[in-house]
Amino acid sequence: MWRQTKTAIHKVLRLNVLHRHTCRALQSTSAPERALQYTPGQNIHGFTIKEVVSVPDLFLTAVKLTHDQTGAHYLHAARDDSNNLFSVQFRTTPMDSTGVPHILEHTVLCGSQRFPVRDPFFKMLNRSLSTFMNAFTASDYTMYPFSTQNSKDFKNLLSVYLDAVFFPCLREQDFWQEGWRLENEDPSNPKSPLVFKGVVFNEMKGAFSDNERLYAQYLQNKLFPDHTYSVVSGGEPLCIPDLTWNQLKQFHATHYHPSNARFFTYGDLPLEQHLQQIHQEALSKFERIDPKTEVPPQPHWPYPREAHVSCGPDALAPDQTRQNTLCVSFLLPEITDCFEGFTLSLLSSLMVSGPNSPFYKALIEPKIGTDFSSVVGYDGSTREASFSVGLQGMSEQDMERVKHIINQTIDHIIQVGFEEERIEALLHKIEIQMKHQSTNFGLALASYIASSWNHDGDPVELLQISDSVNRFKQALKDNPRYLQEKVQEYFKDNTHRLTLSMSPDEQYLDKQAKSEEEKLQQKVQVLTEEDRKEIYDKGLELLSAQSAPQDASCLPALKVSDIDPVTTRTPVQISSVGGVPVQLCEQPTNGLVYFRALCNLNTLSEDLRPLVPLFCSVITKMGCGSLDYRQQAQEMELRTGGMSVSAQVIPDSSHLDMYEQGMVLSSSCLERNLPHMFGLWRDVFNRPHFDNEERLRVLVMMSAQELANGISYSGHMYAMTRAARHLTPAGDLHETFGGMEQVKFMKRVAEMQDLNHVIRTLPRLKKHLFNPHNMRCAINATPQKMSDSTKHLETFLKEVSGNRKDRKPVRPNTILKPIDPRLESGPTKTLIDDSNYQPCHMKTFFQMPFPVNFVSQSIRTVPFTHQDYASLSVLARMMTAKYLHGEIREKGGAYGGGARMGSGLFTFYSYRDPQSAQTLAAFRRGVDWAKAGLFSQQDIDEAKLSVFSAVDAPVAPSDKGMSLFLNGVTDDMRDAHRQRLFRVSHQDLLDVAERYLSVGRCTDGAAILGPENEVIRKDPSWIIK
Ligand SMILES: [Zn+2]
Repeated sequence: MWRQTKTAIHKVLRLNVLHRHTCRALQSTSAPERALQYTPGQNIHGFTIKEVVSVPDLFLTAVKLTHDQTGAHYLHAARDDSNNLFSVQFRTTPMDSTGVPHILEHTVLCGSQRFPVRDPFFKMLNRSLSTFMNAFTASDYTMYPFSTQNSKDFKNLLSVYLDAVFFPCLREQDFWQEGWRLENEDPSNPKSPLVFKGVVFNEMKGAFSDNERLYAQYLQNKLFPDHTYSVVSGGEPLCIPDLTWNQLKQFHATHYHPSNARFFTYGDLPLEQHLQQIHQEALSKFERIDPKTEVPPQPHWPYPREAHVSCGPDALAPDQTRQNTLCVSFLLPEITDCFEGFTLSLLSSLMVSGPNSPFYKALIEPKIGTDFSSVVGYDGSTREASFSVGLQGMSEQDMERVKHIINQTIDHIIQVGFEEERIEALLHKIEIQMKHQSTNFGLALASYIASSWNHDGDPVELLQISDSVNRFKQALKDNPRYLQEKVQEYFKDNTHRLTLSMSPDEQYLDKQAKSEEEKLQQKVQVLTEEDRKEIYDKGLELLSAQSAPQDASCLPALKVSDIDPVTTRTPVQISSVGGVPVQLCEQPTNGLVYFRALCNLNTLSEDLRPLVPLFCSVITKMGCGSLDYRQQAQEMELRTGGMSVSAQVIPDSSHLDMYEQGMVLSSSCLERNLPHMFGLWRDVFNRPHFDNEERLRVLVMMSAQELANGISYSGHMYAMTRAARHLTPAGDLHETFGGMEQVKFMKRVAEMQDLNHVIRTLPRLKKHLFNPHNMRCAINATPQKMSDSTKHLETFLKEVSGNRKDRKPVRPNTILKPIDPRLESGPTKTLIDDSNYQPCHMKTFFQMPFPVNFVSQSIRTVPFTHQDYASLSVLARMMTAKYLHGEIREKGGAYGGGARMGSGLFTFYSYRDPQSAQTLAAFRRGVDWAKAGLFSQQDIDEAKLSVFSAVDAPVAPSDKGMSLFLNGVTDDMRDAHRQRLFRVSHQDLLDVAERYLSVGRCTDGAAILGPENEVIRKDPSWIIK
């Protein structure tokens, strides 16, 4: 994977804390307590302890070490969290755009000395209970993280990761497969034309079909023009074919060395074991080198610069004439200055975040563009940080005006500064984020410290967030103009600034295709007959290597017997408050209260349903009660951890043609703010503001832009949603709420000259949606605060009871079901029952302005509680790992592909795929492969492990009980599913493959998003959109 790191302020604010065992921290056996026993100077397994620091804010102890023999850096964060994490990162600083660090990231995962099988990384996905496994290439480092809750698994994965990065095979064939190669279009036909193939080559073509990413790349390259940041670490598609296999091996030798490595471990497993294993299996085999990978400081420009670039036109943009982007970027100090970085990221937030920020007022509200540029705010992912602000979706004439406004706004900030309340709200946000407990805390920490540590910053200092908060408060107290002076220094007086504009070029895609063709010809023309023969032979060799059966027995593996035999249960209490069903779930939430409500849409007329997502996205942003939208935003930031509303389609767990349709309200707050949070919801229910057309237009434009931008990134989700549209009633509504239909609907709304019609409709939606008669609620809080929370909820429900109306559902076919199936006479929910629904076969093609495809085929099967559901789930995993991955990714060159089971559908998909019809054929061959039954018990066990690692993924205290509340799935149902998973046999898999997946057995649908396609255009069975 290749990652452009987004702004660091988001990283600070997303720093979520999982603190599951509050009481354990007091016991001497807790992981942080144990770690405090280490002393600086102590030597453990070849490492010397440098520093031991308690970080009470994050409930952890940080231990810093170095490896004596190689100088490798090591940081351990001891914390009572069983979701242990390992990561190793190398400073990778390429000087060309061949994508060498990215291709290397892929190829080291293709086999190593101890594990010489093809792609041990993907194989381990099925031999482990990992909660996360991945690899990232950033601009200046490459990181390999994994996490797991099982100690044996941790050891296994650590062995595989260490061997992969330090002792990879780096075979020529791996380089061809993952990097680039010339090959006959049809490898079995030597007469077919030669083309470029390769996973990274296609991945990067896909990545740069996203204009937002393209812009971000240009911006970084041009703001730091003198060293590694001036090149594309992921690889510029046209430069990738310049890389040789030897250069790749050379880059590995110099960059993937312990002296250039930083190790990070996190969790409750003992540090000694990690150190011993890392020393023995890897580091002891190396001597120290000087890797010379430092990034030199960027020389400061004496004068500002301007630049212009082009991009492809975006067919889905809300307004075709407004597709320009312009932003101004400023070079800031080095990110290793921890406190300055903290200050600047807060300052950036004050400047650009939310409707009260000066840049939002100056740039977004006048509707010059559709949204901020893709790069906005503080970015700490490079050696020197940067700050950017600008707009996308604007017309060319407005460019000068935007530059002027940016300068003006900076002057204005220097003059007036910021309101105290906004600073307070921001600090409150940090407090909440530190208390909120997430399940991937280790990973969040690893990415939070990665950039600064990469340039030898102190990662421990970075973790001491409240020290920075206190220092910040003091600085403001000592000097009320503290922030204004920073703005003067870094924005007004800063000559290292770049103004970069980007415009669409109708010819862009053609020009790109032409340059690729030229590049290809350049390579092909110099080939002799012999070379061609060799290419053909190598293509066949690769194909046969990819198809050869493999012995993976050298890889470590967990067994099915290592899986917990029983489901962990979550006790909840279901009662009724003022006639509204309420679910209470006591959890160690660390002082936060989480509130959810589901309001069903059963009384809403059908024609209004497409508007529900729009209603959800604006309802908490237009103002309410006595608050205008600015005051409301301010109040929400000061008093809550956020308030959001989203549209939901929930398929029933036992009937394919039943579903619940609704809208989920979600918010959290510190216990002390309970009355404020419910007060805000009350005003949203009773007195929402809808009449501000200007405000609505801003929100509509931003939503439409966001949807349009998301397609090239989540195209597979859109393809899957569309493929399932005509298979179940829930699938149909899902397309309306979140599929291509919704994207097009929002585009139309954004293009309307007059939004008054929408404004008149919103109150009608409100009447149906905010009806306590159609509502149920859930609260997750600590046992101590539960009764208090319930009391405030009760007050809220009383205050909104005026909205209570006993309306008739628009469709007669509704059915009541107990919320908790164990309580037959308990509170109920209303489902739509479409028993007469006729699924139908439909194939849809969306022609898109990008060079890769997203392909999906979906088959109607059985609901969650059906006995075959478990077999189909295991089959989907097994087909993915044992067949589809090889066909679609390795042979087909797509970035990813597979099958999944969910919502009663068995769905195939591919991601960033150079093929389309061939991939559909691969899906069909996958079914034949399954029906042939040539898989082993080991294959089945691996698929089960992989299914269980998802089934048993950790759940944060805020989300406990949600599968019952939203989906009606009880612990008993989960346990029955678990037992069925354990029992799935070879015969069961053959059986479900035959009965559900064979052609003609069940109704299926297909969808493709991709570039113009001759084959499909001529095939009348496809509907072209
Ligand atoms: Zn990649």
